[in-house]
Amino acid sequence: MNIVILLGAPGSGKGTIAVELAKTAGIRHLSSGDLLRGAVKAGTPAGLKAKTFMESGNLVPDELIADMIADTVAADKETQTLLLDGFPRNVAQAEILAKMMADNGITLRCALLLDVPDAVVIRRISGRRVCPACGAGFNVDSMPPKQEGICDACGAALIIRKDDTPETVQHRLDVYAAQTLPLIDYYKQANALVTVDGSHDDLDAKVREALEKIS
Ligand code: AMP
Repeated sequence: MNIVILLGAPGSGKGTIAVELAKTAGIRHLSSGDLLRGAVKAGTPAGLKAKTFMESGNLVPDELIADMIADTVAADKETQTLLLDGFPRNVAQAEILAKMMADNGITLRCALLLDVPDAVVIRRISGRRVCPACGAGFNVDSMPPKQEGICDACGAALIIRKDDTPETVQHRLDVYAAQTLPLIDYYKQANALVTVDGSHDDLDAKVREALEKIS
């Protein structure tokens, strides 16, 4: 197995691009946020512990999410390329991941940074709507559902994620700047950083092109 790490601010398009690559390039998508939201919904001990951190826009403890990622990776013997979306989120997690990869003979293909200005990120997040039933994502500006407020896939009423409210979004961006931005230098020094301008709509093509160059 090899790993592509997706880096970028909340709302930079990581989730959208990962879903697209999973469909078109057969790359498996593992989102730490989705794993955690699944655990919260299922009421597991990890989910109960994570809930308050998540709702306030803070990071959950490193070992909590690292254990969930390790369990998922260990259970996955088939996948060739795994796209990690949302993990690692700080340098401590990057080091946990490096050890997990070394122990399991997994290689790092690259860390792919979606570079998007804050103003674009805030606009994208404020338009974001999700389906609480099936997890499908929409955006009132760029990817509206066919019927306003209703999930195209399952017909449930769409909601705004608790951590997508304006106050929490600003806090998440501050957390990103303080904790996650240092990863850019971390992977640059490891010669693994690939940067894609994520502010335009043809992101899918740009990311695919970047990945082809390093495959
Ligand atoms: P996301 O969907 O990636 O924006 O993640 C939603 C929330 O889940 C974040 O605001 C954090 O509270 C939590 N979370 C996701 N991934 C991590 C991680 N790698 N480390 C700590 N907390 C995380």
